Amino acid sequence: STQSVTVTVTGAAGQIGYATVFRAAAGALLGSGTPVRLRLLEIPEAARAAEGVAMELQDAAMPLLESVDVFDDPTAAFDGSEVGLLIGARPRSKGMERADLLAANAGIFSVQGQAINNGAAENFRAVVVGNPANTNALIAASHAPDVPAERFTALTRLDHHRAQAQLALACEVTVNDVDGVAIWGNHSASQFVDLSRATVKGNPAEEVLAERGLDRKWIDEFFIPKVANRGAEIIEVRGGSSVASAAHATLRHIRTWLRGTEEGRWTSMAVPSTGVHGVPQGVVSSFPVFCQDGDHRIVEPWEIDDFARERIERSLAELVEERQAVEQLGLL
Ligand code: NDP
Repeated sequence: STQSVTVTVTGAAGQIGYATVFRAAAGALLGSGTPVRLRLLEIPEAARAAEGVAMELQDAAMPLLESVDVFDDPTAAFDGSEVGLLIGARPRSKGMERADLLAANAGIFSVQGQAINNGAAENFRAVVVGNPANTNALIAASHAPDVPAERFTALTRLDHHRAQAQLALACEVTVNDVDGVAIWGNHSASQFVDLSRATVKGNPAEEVLAERGLDRKWIDEFFIPKVANRGAEIIEVRGGSSVASAAHATLRHIRTWLRGTEEGRWTSMAVPSTGVHGVPQGVVSSFPVFCQDGDHRIVEPWEIDDFARERIERSLAELVEERQAVEQLGLL
Protein backbone atom coordinates (compact mmCIF):
# COMPACT_ATOMS: atom_id res chain seq x y z
CA SER A 1 0.00 0.00 0.00
CA THR A 2 1.09 3.60 -0.31
CA GLN A 3 -0.43 4.51 3.07
CA SER A 4 2.37 6.04 5.13
CA VAL A 5 3.22 5.31 8.74
CA THR A 6 4.02 8.03 11.30
CA VAL A 7 6.91 7.00 13.53
CA THR A 8 8.21 8.81 16.61
CA VAL A 9 11.82 8.04 17.50
CA THR A 10 13.08 9.17 20.90
CA GLY A 11 16.79 9.62 21.49
CA ALA A 12 17.02 10.13 17.75
CA ALA A 13 20.42 11.81 17.95
CA GLY A 14 21.88 8.98 20.02
CA GLN A 15 23.78 6.07 18.59
CA ILE A 16 20.96 3.54 18.22
CA GLY A 17 18.53 6.26 17.15
CA TYR A 18 20.89 7.45 14.43
CA ALA A 19 21.29 3.93 13.06
CA THR A 20 17.57 3.23 13.29
CA VAL A 21 16.17 6.28 11.48
CA PHE A 22 18.22 5.73 8.33
CA ARG A 23 17.15 2.12 7.97
CA ALA A 24 13.53 2.98 8.84
CA ALA A 25 13.56 5.59 6.09
CA ALA A 26 15.05 3.03 3.69
CA GLY A 27 12.18 0.58 4.19
CA ALA A 28 13.46 -1.70 6.95
CA LEU A 29 10.51 -0.91 9.20
CA LEU A 30 7.48 -2.06 7.20
CA GLY A 31 8.96 -2.75 3.79
CA SER A 32 9.48 -0.69 0.68
CA GLY A 33 5.73 -0.35 0.11
CA THR A 34 5.19 1.81 3.19
CA PRO A 35 6.34 5.46 3.15
CA VAL A 36 7.55 6.80 6.49
CA ARG A 37 6.94 10.08 8.29
CA LEU A 38 9.59 10.52 10.97
CA ARG A 39 9.15 12.54 14.15
CA LEU A 40 12.45 12.80 16.02
CA LEU A 41 12.31 13.55 19.75
CA GLU A 42 15.32 14.63 21.75
CA ILE A 43 16.00 16.33 25.02
CA PRO A 44 16.59 20.10 24.53
CA GLU A 45 20.39 19.69 24.86
CA ALA A 46 20.42 17.25 21.94
CA ALA A 47 17.72 18.82 19.77
CA ARG A 48 20.29 20.60 17.61
CA ALA A 49 22.10 17.32 17.01
CA ALA A 50 18.75 15.81 16.02
CA GLU A 51 18.35 18.68 13.51
CA GLY A 52 21.64 17.51 12.07
CA VAL A 53 20.31 13.97 11.76
CA ALA A 54 17.25 15.35 9.98
CA MET A 55 19.52 17.26 7.58
CA GLU A 56 21.40 14.06 6.77
CA LEU A 57 18.12 12.24 6.18
CA GLN A 58 17.17 15.00 3.71
CA ASP A 59 20.54 14.64 2.04
CA ALA A 60 19.92 10.94 1.47
CA ALA A 61 16.93 11.86 -0.75
CA MET A 62 15.12 8.71 0.30
CA PRO A 63 12.06 8.00 -1.81
CA LEU A 64 10.14 6.45 1.11
CA LEU A 65 10.73 9.34 3.50
CA GLU A 66 7.69 11.61 3.33
CA SER A 67 8.73 13.97 6.11
CA VAL A 68 11.08 14.42 9.02
CA ASP A 69 10.44 16.75 11.95
CA VAL A 70 12.42 17.41 15.11
CA PHE A 71 10.92 18.01 18.56
CA ASP A 72 12.05 18.58 22.11
CA ASP A 73 8.48 18.46 23.39
CA PRO A 74 7.03 14.94 23.86
CA THR A 75 3.41 16.03 23.39
CA ALA A 76 4.18 17.49 19.98
CA ALA A 77 6.41 14.56 19.02
CA PHE A 78 3.73 11.94 19.70
CA ASP A 79 0.88 13.86 18.08
CA GLY A 80 -0.64 11.51 15.51
CA SER A 81 2.08 8.93 16.06
CA GLU A 82 1.38 5.32 15.08
CA VAL A 83 4.68 3.69 16.02
CA GLY A 84 6.94 4.72 18.90
CA LEU A 85 10.56 3.64 18.96
CA LEU A 86 11.42 4.65 22.52
CA ILE A 87 15.19 4.49 22.36
CA GLY A 88 16.31 7.47 24.42
CA ALA A 89 16.95 6.88 28.09
CA ARG A 90 19.07 8.30 30.85
CA PRO A 91 22.33 6.34 30.99
CA ARG A 92 23.82 5.38 34.32
CA SER A 93 26.49 7.93 35.17
CA LYS A 94 29.37 7.37 37.53
CA GLY A 95 28.33 6.96 41.13
CA MET A 96 24.63 6.88 40.26
CA GLU A 97 22.55 4.51 42.39
CA ARG A 98 20.14 2.10 40.74
CA ALA A 99 17.23 3.89 42.42
CA ASP A 100 18.37 7.21 40.94
CA LEU A 101 18.54 5.64 37.50
CA LEU A 102 15.05 4.19 37.85
CA ALA A 103 13.75 7.54 39.06
CA ALA A 104 15.36 9.50 36.21
CA ASN A 105 13.92 7.13 33.64
CA ALA A 106 10.54 6.98 35.34
CA GLY A 107 10.41 10.76 34.87
CA ILE A 108 11.12 10.43 31.14
CA PHE A 109 8.76 7.54 30.46
CA SER A 110 5.85 8.83 32.53
CA VAL A 111 5.90 12.10 30.57
CA GLN A 112 6.08 10.20 27.28
CA GLY A 113 3.20 7.93 28.37
CA GLN A 114 1.07 11.00 29.04
CA ALA A 115 2.00 12.51 25.70
CA ILE A 116 1.06 9.27 23.96
CA ASN A 117 -2.23 9.16 25.84
CA ASN A 118 -3.00 12.73 24.77
CA GLY A 119 -2.23 12.64 21.13
CA ALA A 120 -1.04 9.37 19.61
CA ALA A 121 -3.09 7.72 16.90
CA GLU A 122 -5.72 5.09 17.72
CA ASN A 123 -3.45 2.31 16.42
CA PHE A 124 -0.34 3.44 18.34
CA ARG A 125 2.20 0.77 19.29
CA ALA A 126 5.55 1.18 21.02
CA VAL A 127 8.75 -0.71 21.61
CA VAL A 128 10.97 0.48 24.45
CA VAL A 129 14.71 0.08 23.88
CA GLY A 130 16.06 2.48 26.49
CA ASN A 131 17.03 0.71 29.70
CA PRO A 132 15.69 -0.50 32.06
CA ALA A 133 13.48 -1.29 29.05
CA ASN A 134 10.89 -3.61 30.63
CA THR A 135 10.17 -1.30 33.54
CA ASN A 136 10.23 1.80 31.34
CA ALA A 137 7.52 0.16 29.19
CA LEU A 138 5.47 -0.53 32.31
CA ILE A 139 5.78 3.11 33.40
CA ALA A 140 4.80 4.49 29.98
CA ALA A 141 1.78 2.17 29.83
CA SER A 142 0.62 3.15 33.31
CA HIS A 143 0.63 6.83 32.28
CA ALA A 144 -1.38 6.11 29.13
CA PRO A 145 -4.61 4.73 30.61
CA ASP A 146 -6.55 5.15 27.35
CA VAL A 147 -4.08 3.07 25.36
CA PRO A 148 -4.33 -0.72 25.81
CA ALA A 149 -1.35 -1.81 27.95
CA GLU A 150 -0.39 -4.53 25.47
CA ARG A 151 0.57 -1.80 22.98
CA PHE A 152 3.65 -1.10 25.12
CA THR A 153 6.39 -3.67 24.64
CA ALA A 154 10.14 -3.84 25.26
CA LEU A 155 12.96 -5.13 23.13
CA THR A 156 14.40 -8.61 23.70
CA ARG A 157 14.66 -9.37 20.00
CA LEU A 158 18.40 -8.68 20.05
CA ASP A 159 18.79 -11.32 22.77
CA HIS A 160 16.66 -13.67 20.64
CA HIS A 161 18.87 -13.03 17.60
CA ARG A 162 22.01 -13.57 19.68
CA ALA A 163 20.65 -16.94 20.87
CA GLN A 164 19.82 -17.98 17.30
CA ALA A 165 23.27 -16.96 16.10
CA GLN A 166 25.16 -18.71 18.91
CA LEU A 167 23.13 -21.90 18.47
CA ALA A 168 23.81 -21.90 14.72
CA LEU A 169 27.50 -21.34 15.38
CA ALA A 170 27.71 -24.22 17.87
CA CYS A 171 25.96 -26.57 15.42
CA GLU A 172 27.86 -25.29 12.36
CA VAL A 173 24.67 -24.43 10.48
CA THR A 174 23.23 -21.10 9.35
CA VAL A 175 20.56 -19.20 11.31
CA ASN A 176 18.03 -20.34 8.70
CA ASP A 177 18.37 -23.87 10.10
CA VAL A 178 17.62 -22.77 13.65
CA ASP A 179 14.18 -22.19 15.17
CA GLY A 180 12.31 -22.05 18.47
CA VAL A 181 14.71 -20.27 20.82
CA ALA A 182 12.98 -18.21 23.51
CA ILE A 183 14.00 -15.38 25.83
CA TRP A 184 12.23 -15.10 29.18
CA GLY A 185 12.21 -12.37 31.82
CA ASN A 186 14.10 -9.11 31.97
CA HIS A 187 16.30 -7.55 29.27
CA SER A 188 19.28 -7.82 31.60
CA ALA A 189 21.93 -10.36 32.48
CA SER A 190 19.26 -12.23 34.48
CA GLN A 191 17.34 -13.18 31.31
CA PHE A 192 16.74 -16.87 30.70
CA VAL A 193 17.73 -18.14 27.26
CA ASP A 194 15.63 -21.24 26.63
CA LEU A 195 16.69 -23.95 24.19
CA SER A 196 14.19 -26.54 25.40
CA ARG A 197 11.92 -26.08 22.36
CA ALA A 198 14.62 -25.01 19.93
CA THR A 199 15.33 -27.03 16.81
CA VAL A 200 18.23 -27.37 14.40
CA LYS A 201 17.14 -28.52 10.94
CA GLY A 202 13.94 -29.69 12.59
CA ASN A 203 15.65 -31.82 15.25
CA PRO A 204 15.64 -30.96 18.97
CA ALA A 205 18.55 -28.57 19.54
CA GLU A 206 19.55 -30.20 22.81
CA GLU A 207 19.95 -33.55 21.01
CA VAL A 208 21.95 -32.00 18.18
CA LEU A 209 24.22 -30.30 20.72
CA ALA A 210 24.59 -33.52 22.74
CA GLU A 211 25.77 -35.33 19.59
CA ARG A 212 28.51 -32.71 19.40
CA GLY A 213 29.46 -33.33 23.02
CA LEU A 214 27.73 -30.19 24.25
CA ASP A 215 25.58 -31.17 27.22
CA ARG A 216 23.24 -29.35 29.60
CA LYS A 217 26.24 -28.19 31.59
CA TRP A 218 27.59 -26.50 28.45
CA ILE A 219 24.23 -24.84 27.85
CA ASP A 220 24.09 -23.66 31.44
CA GLU A 221 27.69 -22.62 31.90
CA PHE A 222 28.66 -21.45 28.43
CA PHE A 223 25.73 -20.84 26.11
CA ILE A 224 23.34 -18.95 28.39
CA PRO A 225 26.01 -16.61 29.86
CA LYS A 226 27.43 -16.07 26.36
CA VAL A 227 24.09 -14.73 25.13
CA ALA A 228 23.23 -12.84 28.33
CA ASN A 229 26.64 -11.15 28.49
CA ARG A 230 27.03 -10.50 24.77
CA GLY A 231 26.40 -6.78 25.19
CA ALA A 232 29.34 -6.48 27.58
CA GLU A 233 31.49 -8.57 25.24
CA ILE A 234 30.67 -6.24 22.33
CA ILE A 235 31.64 -3.22 24.43
CA GLU A 236 34.98 -4.83 25.25
CA VAL A 237 35.81 -5.99 21.73
CA ARG A 238 34.33 -3.18 19.63
CA GLY A 239 35.17 -0.44 22.10
CA GLY A 240 31.55 0.72 22.11
CA SER A 241 28.10 -0.67 22.84
CA SER A 242 26.06 -2.63 20.32
CA VAL A 243 24.39 -0.15 18.03
CA ALA A 244 23.70 -1.52 14.54
CA SER A 245 22.52 -4.88 15.88
CA ALA A 246 20.27 -3.14 18.41
CA ALA A 247 18.82 -0.90 15.67
CA HIS A 248 18.24 -3.94 13.47
CA ALA A 249 16.45 -5.82 16.26
CA THR A 250 14.27 -2.77 16.99
CA LEU A 251 13.12 -2.62 13.38
CA ARG A 252 12.51 -6.39 13.23
CA HIS A 253 10.49 -6.23 16.45
CA ILE A 254 8.03 -3.76 14.91
CA ARG A 255 7.94 -5.50 11.55
CA THR A 256 7.16 -8.88 13.08
CA TRP A 257 4.54 -7.39 15.40
CA LEU A 258 2.70 -5.62 12.57
CA ARG A 259 3.28 -8.09 9.76
CA GLY A 260 3.10 -11.28 11.81
CA THR A 261 5.23 -14.28 12.68
CA GLU A 262 5.44 -17.13 10.17
CA GLU A 263 3.00 -19.99 10.68
CA GLY A 264 3.97 -21.97 13.79
CA ARG A 265 7.08 -19.88 14.55
CA TRP A 266 7.46 -17.55 17.47
CA THR A 267 9.72 -14.65 18.30
CA SER A 268 10.67 -13.14 21.67
CA MET A 269 9.17 -9.87 22.91
CA ALA A 270 8.74 -8.34 26.34
CA VAL A 271 4.99 -7.81 26.79
CA PRO A 272 2.66 -7.28 29.78
CA SER A 273 2.02 -10.69 31.31
CA THR A 274 -1.51 -12.02 31.06
CA GLY A 275 -0.71 -14.11 34.14
CA VAL A 276 0.43 -17.17 32.20
CA HIS A 277 3.61 -19.19 32.77
CA GLY A 278 3.56 -18.10 36.42
CA VAL A 279 4.48 -14.51 35.51
CA PRO A 280 2.52 -12.00 37.63
CA GLN A 281 -0.13 -10.18 35.61
CA GLY A 282 1.00 -6.83 34.22
CA VAL A 283 4.72 -7.37 34.68
CA VAL A 284 6.45 -6.62 31.36
CA SER A 285 8.43 -9.80 30.79
CA SER A 286 9.95 -11.39 27.75
CA PHE A 287 8.05 -14.40 26.40
CA PRO A 288 7.93 -16.44 23.23
CA VAL A 289 5.06 -14.80 21.29
CA PHE A 290 3.13 -15.27 18.08
CA CYS A 291 2.19 -12.08 16.22
CA GLN A 292 -0.62 -11.42 13.79
CA ASP A 293 -2.02 -8.13 12.47
CA GLY A 294 -0.53 -6.04 15.25
CA ASP A 295 -1.49 -8.39 18.08
CA HIS A 296 0.91 -10.50 20.10
CA ARG A 297 -0.09 -13.70 21.84
CA ILE A 298 2.07 -15.44 24.41
CA VAL A 299 2.82 -19.01 23.36
CA GLU A 300 0.77 -21.57 25.34
CA PRO A 301 2.55 -22.78 28.46
CA TRP A 302 4.68 -25.84 27.90
CA GLU A 303 6.12 -28.02 30.59
CA ILE A 304 9.06 -26.15 32.10
CA ASP A 305 11.59 -28.15 34.11
CA ASP A 306 12.96 -27.10 37.48
CA PHE A 307 16.13 -25.71 35.93
CA ALA A 308 14.22 -23.37 33.62
CA ARG A 309 11.68 -22.49 36.30
CA GLU A 310 14.41 -21.43 38.71
CA ARG A 311 16.09 -19.26 36.08
CA ILE A 312 12.84 -17.62 35.02
CA GLU A 313 11.89 -16.98 38.66
CA ARG A 314 15.22 -15.25 39.23
CA SER A 315 14.65 -12.83 36.37
CA LEU A 316 11.04 -12.25 37.40
CA ALA A 317 12.15 -11.42 40.93
CA GLU A 318 14.32 -8.67 39.45
CA LEU A 319 11.39 -7.30 37.43
CA VAL A 320 9.07 -7.33 40.44
CA GLU A 321 11.73 -5.55 42.46
CA GLU A 322 12.07 -2.85 39.77
CA ARG A 323 8.31 -2.42 39.75
CA GLN A 324 8.24 -2.05 43.53
CA ALA A 325 11.04 0.51 43.45
CA VAL A 326 9.13 2.63 40.93
CA GLU A 327 5.91 2.22 42.94
CA GLN A 328 7.69 3.42 46.06
CA LEU A 329 8.76 6.51 44.16
CA GLY A 330 5.08 7.13 43.42
CA LEU A 331 5.74 6.87 39.69
CA LEU A 332 3.36 4.04 38.80
P1 NDP B 1 22.36 4.51 22.73
O1 NDP B 1 21.64 4.99 21.53
O2 NDP B 1 23.61 3.73 22.55
O3 NDP B 1 21.39 3.65 23.65
C1 NDP B 1 20.06 4.07 23.89
C2 NDP B 1 19.42 3.18 24.92
O4 NDP B 1 19.28 1.87 24.43
C3 NDP B 1 20.20 3.06 26.23
O5 NDP B 1 19.28 3.19 27.31
C4 NDP B 1 20.75 1.65 26.17
O6 NDP B 1 20.88 1.08 27.44
C5 NDP B 1 19.64 0.98 25.45
N1 NDP B 1 19.86 -0.36 24.95
C6 NDP B 1 18.95 -1.37 25.03
N2 NDP B 1 19.41 -2.48 24.52
C7 NDP B 1 20.65 -2.24 24.10
C8 NDP B 1 21.65 -3.04 23.51
N3 NDP B 1 21.44 -4.31 23.29
N4 NDP B 1 22.81 -2.46 23.20
C9 NDP B 1 23.02 -1.18 23.47
N5 NDP B 1 22.11 -0.37 24.04
C10 NDP B 1 20.94 -0.90 24.36
O7 NDP B 1 22.66 5.72 23.72
P2 NDP B 1 23.12 7.20 23.42
O8 NDP B 1 23.55 7.73 24.74
O9 NDP B 1 23.99 7.28 22.23
O10 NDP B 1 21.78 7.93 23.01
C11 NDP B 1 20.74 8.18 23.87
C12 NDP B 1 20.04 9.42 23.37
O11 NDP B 1 18.81 9.52 24.05
C13 NDP B 1 20.82 10.71 23.61
O12 NDP B 1 20.88 11.42 22.39
C14 NDP B 1 19.94 11.45 24.63
O13 NDP B 1 19.96 12.84 24.42
C15 NDP B 1 18.60 10.88 24.30
N6 NDP B 1 17.54 10.97 25.28
C16 NDP B 1 16.34 11.33 24.79
C17 NDP B 1 15.27 11.45 25.59
C18 NDP B 1 14.00 11.90 24.99
O14 NDP B 1 13.82 11.84 23.79
N7 NDP B 1 13.06 12.34 25.79
C19 NDP B 1 15.35 11.15 27.02
C20 NDP B 1 16.65 10.72 27.45
C21 NDP B 1 17.71 10.61 26.58
P3 NDP B 1 22.24 1.13 28.29
O15 NDP B 1 22.41 2.55 28.72
O16 NDP B 1 21.94 0.21 29.43
O17 NDP B 1 23.32 0.65 27.37
